[in-house]
Amino acid sequence: MPTLTRTEATALKRLERTIEDGLTRFAQAGEALQQIRDERLWRGVSSSFATYCRERWSITESRASQLIRGAVVAAEVPGLTSMRAATELAKHDAPTRKRIADSVESSGKVTTTDVRRAAKRVANTAVVKDGLGERVEDDDFAATLDEAKVLESLKTDLLLLKRRLLATEDWNHYTAEASQDITSHFKALANAIRWSKPFTLCPYCGGKGCKACKKSGWVNKESYHASPSELR
Ligand SMILES: [Zn+2]
Repeated sequence: MPTLTRTEATALKRLERTIEDGLTRFAQAGEALQQIRDERLWRGVSSSFATYCRERWSITESRASQLIRGAVVAAEVPGLTSMRAATELAKHDAPTRKRIADSVESSGKVTTTDVRRAAKRVANTAVVKDGLGERVEDDDFAATLDEAKVLESLKTDLLLLKRRLLATEDWNHYTAEASQDITSHFKALANAIRWSKPFTLCPYCGGKGCKACKKSGWVNKESYHASPSELR
């Protein structure tokens, strides 16, 4: 059996101590196991990683892989403190995990139930599409698009108001100029509504918020089409 260098032996000892604390700090345990596996630190004491897991920790290699995967996904949700919760989270793909992380409602420890509830909420949320017809993964932008639906009804209200106002012309004796004025004011209002309508995530910053999107993370249709085509 090859011997480990002193540095490697020290690393092994340190990592093993972390695994011993494993139950409550399973994420660190998973990371430690990953390092032992990837740097083949087991080779001084066992003939394979699988043997090492069995002999040193009485777990199968697939259990170790589960712990390692759990550690990776646990880092995505602050407060995730149990292996079961991490395993629950690991059932989902990366974009869904991100939405679950955003949706988790917990002040402090995140339990398996919290993860399940959040996953349910995410699954129940209707698929939101942006102006380009693309699925919106960003929950903040999805909420913005939802709020912006009010602009459509405002546009309808505005049109009705304009018609009613101009219909008074017969008895109000608007001059032709006044009618034109009213029409152009309404046009400006309609434009203002159109301009405030979110179209898609900002092509300059991808949603983080920048000068171009005035920190909102999204742009209207006009700004989108005015952006350099290589960004789109
Ligand atoms: Zn931006």
